[in-house]
Amino acid sequence: MKNYDVVVVGAGAAGVGIAAMLTDFGVENMVVLERDRVGSSFDRWPKEMRFITPSFTTNYWGHLDLNSVATGTSPAFTLDTEHPTGHEYAEYLRLISEYFELPVKEYTSVEQITYSEDRFTIRVDGADGSEVIESRFLIWAAGEFQYPSTELFSGSELCLHNSHIESWKQVQGDDVYVIGGNESGIDAAIHLSRLGKKVSVLAENADWDARTTDPSENLSPYTVDRLREEMLGESISLVGKSKVKDVKLEDDQYFIYVKGKKSSPYQTQTPPILATGFDSSLIMVKDLFDWDESDSYVLLNEDDESRKTPGLFLVGPQVRHEDLIFCFIYKYRQRFGVVANAIGDKLGMDTSFLEQYRDQGLYLDDLGACGEECPC
Ligand SMILES: Cc1cc2nc3c(=O)[nH]c(=O)nc-3n(C[C@H](O)[C@H](O)[C@H](O)COP(=O)(O)OP(=O)(O)OC[C@H]3O[C@@H](n4cnc5c(N)ncnc54)[C@H](O)[C@@H]3O)c2cc1C
Repeated sequence: MKNYDVVVVGAGAAGVGIAAMLTDFGVENMVVLERDRVGSSFDRWPKEMRFITPSFTTNYWGHLDLNSVATGTSPAFTLDTEHPTGHEYAEYLRLISEYFELPVKEYTSVEQITYSEDRFTIRVDGADGSEVIESRFLIWAAGEFQYPSTELFSGSELCLHNSHIESWKQVQGDDVYVIGGNESGIDAAIHLSRLGKKVSVLAENADWDARTTDPSENLSPYTVDRLREEMLGESISLVGKSKVKDVKLEDDQYFIYVKGKKSSPYQTQTPPILATGFDSSLIMVKDLFDWDESDSYVLLNEDDESRKTPGLFLVGPQVRHEDLIFCFIYKYRQRFGVVANAIGDKLGMDTSFLEQYRDQGLYLDDLGACGEECPC
């Protein structure tokens, strides 16, 4: 059985980012297990979808590009674009993986993890069949995108989740209903409207006029700009307070039933689009974490380590500390330094090396510094 100091599960933005830092730091006995290729979730984005966070070559002036996950790299510089597509960003991740010579094992899926006596036993399925490996530390970076939320109401299996769309051009029909009104739902509506379709966005809780300074709480400026332009053509209707409770298919027509709507259900020939978010890969390791009261996020200590299973760390958009949501790259990458420091410390390494990452926005351990409101 192979024994590692560190196993990273997933080679997306989070897994590649933390592995690049640990490699730079000098952690050697490590492997990154990736069920597909490096950056494969980004390869699966709808062709037309682009990053909402802008990339810019700010590195020269001491500010890491907002979408960078590793020191000294910039997607804006590498890709020569401000809002990369998923494919472009996957290329950037693959370049980082090569540059840092990351020990990635592609096409190797983690199937089961057990923990006992301070070690993780991990069963993986790869090209050579099944294998069991062991590790002292486990970093969970398997993301959300490949674990969509699809079982939300009766008939939701008749709908198409936005993560399963290769290109918005594949959607037939002129009248499309999108269920969910956050970033993904509005992004879908914009692309469908650009293709000449009439789009209705049905959302239960969306507040499109909300204004907070945390972009996790409202639409990004990039989306607001695009939506404003598309709304001029009157092809998008935003229908708030619409909780979909049922979808039925009869005679090639989809009927969408909304709670409290007394008039007849919405009707369309096109399968409704689900933009309802993700269950997250954490369902695979649910029992290794304690969860908050509403079972919506995992409880982490100050090192982003499971409060229940010592040695299990979480990196990526599912990291949360009370009201602080780390769902964007520029947010969660700041915790890489914290995780590297905790692991380095336990491996007996000199962690002063990591101090340089503070100025680069890759090492934030004082969460009290977050949450500042803009006066104007
Ligand atoms: C539609 C969408 C748009 C977004 N846009 C932005 C944006 O513009 N800017 C921004 O900052 N953030 C954005 N985010 C949020 C977040 O930054 C991204 O989700 C980001 O990809 C998260 O990276 P990750 O590494 O956690 O997950 P992923 O990129 O999904 O990587 C996880 C990897 O783990 C692998 N994996 C999964 N399960 C297993 C397993 N069992 N065994 C082995 N490997 C496994 C997968 O193949 C995958 O490669 C967006 C999110 C979504 C869903």
